[in-house]
Amino acid sequence: MDETKVASQTNEMTDGLFYDYINKVSAINAERRQNKGEVYKFYTETFGCQQNENDTERICGMLIAMGFEKVSEKEKADLILFNTCAVREHAEQRVFGKVGALVPLKRANPNLKICLCGCMVQQRHIEERLSSYKHINLIFGTGAIGRLPMNIYRLYTEEQKIIDTNEVMTTVPDEISPLRKGGLKAYVTIMNGCNNFCSYCVVPHVRGREHSRCFNSVKNEFCELVKAGYKDITLLGQNVNSYGKDTGEGIDFADLLRELNSVDGDFRIRFMTSHPKDATEKLFKTIAECDKVCHHIHLPFQSGSDRVLKLMNRRYTSADYIALTEKARKLIPDVTFTSDVIVGFPTETEEDFQATLSLIRKVGFNGLFTFIYSPRKNTPAAVMDGQIDKDTKGDRMRRLLEVQNELVWQENKKFVGKTVKVLVEGVSENDTDTLYGRTDTNIIVNFSGNRESIGNYAEVEITRALNWSLFGNQIKVNK
Ligand code: SAH
Ligand code: SF4
Repeated sequence: MDETKVASQTNEMTDGLFYDYINKVSAINAERRQNKGEVYKFYTETFGCQQNENDTERICGMLIAMGFEKVSEKEKADLILFNTCAVREHAEQRVFGKVGALVPLKRANPNLKICLCGCMVQQRHIEERLSSYKHINLIFGTGAIGRLPMNIYRLYTEEQKIIDTNEVMTTVPDEISPLRKGGLKAYVTIMNGCNNFCSYCVVPHVRGREHSRCFNSVKNEFCELVKAGYKDITLLGQNVNSYGKDTGEGIDFADLLRELNSVDGDFRIRFMTSHPKDATEKLFKTIAECDKVCHHIHLPFQSGSDRVLKLMNRRYTSADYIALTEKARKLIPDVTFTSDVIVGFPTETEEDFQATLSLIRKVGFNGLFTFIYSPRKNTPAAVMDGQIDKDTKGDRMRRLLEVQNELVWQENKKFVGKTVKVLVEGVSENDTDTLYGRTDTNIIVNFSGNRESIGNYAEVEITRALNWSLFGNQIKVNK
């Protein structure tokens, strides 16, 4: 198959042009319906973070607007799309495995269109490797999301592989609603990209520089969600505390929270991720004063060793981090923290690792996302001397998990005997007699209670605590 790269001049995608392509592809689907009694069907799979999930929802929204139909089995699809992650090597290996496994499907149906998008394909060496995969038809990067209608049109009208990893960012017009799963929870991306360049991280290289959505655009989407009945809305960005620095609107992240808090309706606001260097007293005060903003902060610390933090280019010390959590606790007494932590960063010694354990003990997290350091091409850490061997990394991870499990359990045990307010999300998968929901502080609660409370708040008395969840009995439904 021939291959074509999308030239930069085609990136001037106005809204008018965007809708022209939407209409052109819709016409292709309409013709198919007339001739075959059905439209093209698509299947998607997402790897990686919530922001990727939200991008997939947006991609699905565009495909629906172009007349496609969504299916939940890839065997029934005419178009398969994988939205990929590049944060760790493991995520990339999974995608390569999944892409390889599509070969038999493509053989059985040569008209099947296979598309790959997202962070992983935005890396030159991966793009080069993937362009030799004959069964892939379309590859597009994180900047090209708003050029999807054009690329889909080309996919159905040209006999060649299309690659659009051009970094020029084209956003999707606000009128195209993301196709959400439904239920109570929804994501709103408030900013894209990252300017921080932590030395281990590929995100700034694959998602480009920080770019905040303008206030009205965020607020309109948010209000639509509230109207549609979503009650647990998470604002997303790699570093939400930088929100608004580039919009010139004079609305920073704390202002945004306050504005959204004042929207009429019954809902909770969550947000992630906060970078410790940019978390301010103004933010903590705003969280404390806004009744709909959850008292939970996901605040990645990455390492407890000041030497390692410096090499990571995180721009705070462990003492700064601890002081920050203390300040937040003073202003928001029931706040909970979760965090990300990396073990086995280049040159990490046993002493550095002990400093990480010590920070965990001092702060008392309600959940930790633990990562083994994985070298990422083109990042400074990947070429640092003193890479840590696999066994040492594995051993540190095992010890970290032991400490984490014990400490998170200690934190969660503090809830036993207390009554917490839970937004009831549904029936537990493992036990149909049990309901589950989340506290404002983002702890999962399983409880025996009244099914009528699904979608509402319930008061639950906690009787037992595990590492990742609490157990209890419902004592009241709050409509
Ligand atoms: N913007 C967010 C996180 C983005 S990536 C933040 O700054 O907190 C999510 C997490 O993946 C990071 O917090 C980090 O803990 C982990 N991570 C990123 N790059 C990694 C790498 N090369 N190896 C291992 N873990 C990594
Ligand atoms: Fe990566 Fe650091 Fe940016 Fe987070 S803040 S996305 S870890 S570079």
